[in-house]
Amino acid sequence: MNVAVLPTNIERSWDMTIGGQAEPGTRHIPVFDPVTGHAFAQAPDATLDETDRAIEAAAAAFPAWSALSWDARVDAVRSFGAAIREENSQLARLLCREQGKPLDKAVSEIGAGLAYLEAYCSMKLAPEILKETEKQRIEQHHRPLGVVGAITAWNYPLLLAIWKIAPALVAGNTVVVKPAPSTPLATLALGRIAARVLPAGVVNVISGGTESGERLTQHEKVRKISFTGSTETGKRIMANASPRLKRLTLELGGNDAGIVLEDADPKTIAPDIFWAKFSNCGQVCAALKRLYVHRSIFQPLCDALAEFAASVKIGPGLGAGVQVGPMQNKAQRDRMAATVEDAVNAGAKIIYQSEVPQEGGYFFPITLLADVPEHTAVVRGETFGPVLAILPFDDIEDAVRRANDTEYGLGGSVWSPNIERAQKIAERLEAGSTWVNQHPSMDPHVPFGGIKSSGLGVEGGLRGLEEFTYLQIVNVKK
Ligand code: NAD
Repeated sequence: MNVAVLPTNIERSWDMTIGGQAEPGTRHIPVFDPVTGHAFAQAPDATLDETDRAIEAAAAAFPAWSALSWDARVDAVRSFGAAIREENSQLARLLCREQGKPLDKAVSEIGAGLAYLEAYCSMKLAPEILKETEKQRIEQHHRPLGVVGAITAWNYPLLLAIWKIAPALVAGNTVVVKPAPSTPLATLALGRIAARVLPAGVVNVISGGTESGERLTQHEKVRKISFTGSTETGKRIMANASPRLKRLTLELGGNDAGIVLEDADPKTIAPDIFWAKFSNCGQVCAALKRLYVHRSIFQPLCDALAEFAASVKIGPGLGAGVQVGPMQNKAQRDRMAATVEDAVNAGAKIIYQSEVPQEGGYFFPITLLADVPEHTAVVRGETFGPVLAILPFDDIEDAVRRANDTEYGLGGSVWSPNIERAQKIAERLEAGSTWVNQHPSMDPHVPFGGIKSSGLGVEGGLRGLEEFTYLQIVNVKK
């Protein structure tokens, strides 16, 4: 049985993990508390040399790790999961403090990560005989790629890290993880946990920004990049990875539409629609970001959403009963303010705006916008924060056309008690996942990924696991 050993003092400098060793780093970045806007801890800003050493450590660990049997790797990954569970409360406090989300949501994020870890441990990519005759046998094997670079965003730091580490390891790869510079701490702590239970070099965690991220995407010994972040960075990573033709999984931005049909009951669906947008303070890649509502129920649904919004408690993540915390960082908060100002200047109406704590920090009010011109940034771009544009439609063909008129293609939803009709419409949304009467809904056994500018490849399910392997065909003449 593992024993929890993470330091209880959060307000400190956290170490990287390179080749199993704790590395304090040679230069540092401050980590800000989204509740106050003040720096409360620091993290290493990995130099190129430190990044290279992490990659070399992962490369050195690869032969022995990939030579283990599938079942032995699964046992080791399960021990990693058990060690994470031991540290659950300390990890959740760290996550809450650096990310800003309510403590119970931080606990559920870790729980969701562990559910993905366990799901990957339950899967197997066994060799398959494709053809067998008297003269020939052709087999298909899934082989690990080597060193995987895992680069994550700041909205779900631990969930995203585990989404990448668990399948990479089960499939036989070793990993260098780099979290976002504004939320490095819980992932650095994850590296210390990995060093306790896994062979040295199998999981390395460095922190820093673009410099170390770019090195990971360009280094010759990194064979695959699994990236979650913005579309803009995803495109840069694809360009940087192209000279060495690295494998890529890119989970990028989204601008998901939800379409509410005329037979939906506004009061019944308002809470689910609200949380489809405002979970994690609206900082969710596959949140519902544009709401198209049949004109006959437009006003009642706006009223029901505003009424529900008024019942939601906003405050510091550690506060009792808090459901929505501050935004994670100042840049994103300022972007939200500019997005709302642009929409209002273009004629949009604020139909509801919540109060927020006034003590400082990165709080932004829950904002519902109606009469929003379609050309504004809040409709065209990715609104990654607590602002929802609500738009009426008269004709379902027009709603589907407007929903699909976007560069993104992550998710989409249709809301109606007529499930068959709703499903037929959902199937016409151009997106990697479409949902009926919910948004989003994820399952560790189900692949998730985007099309168009929302990404390449999938995470989750057997398909997600396969992305950490290459196919080797062994063709034997008897
Ligand atoms: P970001 O692209 O700014 O940063 C993501 C990560 O990339 C960070 O770790 C950052 O340091 C690193 N990075 C930045 N420039 C780099 C470069 N040139 N080379 C290598 N690494 C680099 O994204 P963000 O602001 O942290 O996250 C928000 C975005 O993430 C939103 O667009 C959101 O939709 C998206 N997201 C997508 C998913 C999904 O599954 N599709 C999930 C969560 C978040």
